[in-house]
Amino acid sequence: MRQAWTQVVRTARRTTADGLVVGTSGNVSARVGDTVLVTPSGVPYDRLGPRDLVGVDLDGRQVLGTLAPTSELPMHLAVYRHTDEAAAIVHTHAVHATAVSTLVDELPAIHYMTAALGGPVRVAGYALYGTDELAENMLSALRDRSGCLLRNHGTVVYGATLDQAYDRTAQLEWMCQVWLAATAVPGHTPTLIPPAELDRAAAKLSGYGQPRDGGTEGGAPGVPK
Ligand code: 13P
Ligand code: ZN
Repeated sequence: MRQAWTQVVRTARRTTADGLVVGTSGNVSARVGDTVLVTPSGVPYDRLGPRDLVGVDLDGRQVLGTLAPTSELPMHLAVYRHTDEAAAIVHTHAVHATAVSTLVDELPAIHYMTAALGGPVRVAGYALYGTDELAENMLSALRDRSGCLLRNHGTVVYGATLDQAYDRTAQLEWMCQVWLAATAVPGHTPTLIPPAELDRAAAKLSGYGQPRDGGTEGGAPGVPK
């Protein structure tokens, strides 16, 4: 549990260090059995130490720590209740992703890494932060995807590990930046990847990287079924 908490804090710090959030925005969680470790609400990530661990059960009852959990607990719990493929969640207010969330209902398939999130990433309808309504909107946008945008708010991405959830978040933010750059060129419309080609990319990505039994980590970015 301690080790998982250290990784939650490390991942939360990465979101600020890499510019995916500002201040105490965003939140991170990891599931360990029936306990969900979550970042506390409104506490700067560089102030979090081993004693600040916060854990809740899948009904949201606090089982570890005294700091109040993230205000986005409804979103985190909704994902864990919805799919066993989620063992970690990263929520950010990344600049390009948030900008895209105000422009379209779905991020067009501008790059093959769209397949690493299960297909074109949808935008969840706007609702007040921290509400059950936002969690509901997020769940419908997440159908067959491991990530979505939250309208006028940011990103939510899950993974089988914290590193996977983080890497998918970074890829999503990068794709939003690419799409914004391509659509900003006057008089031109970006080409997109057709669905059949995305399927081929998904199949190929499932074998991406080093062989899994080769003793190295960092194989395929898995795609949700
Ligand atoms: P917390 O500090 O409560 O995690 O809230 C940050 C946030 O991003 C709300 O959407
Ligand atoms: Zn937020």
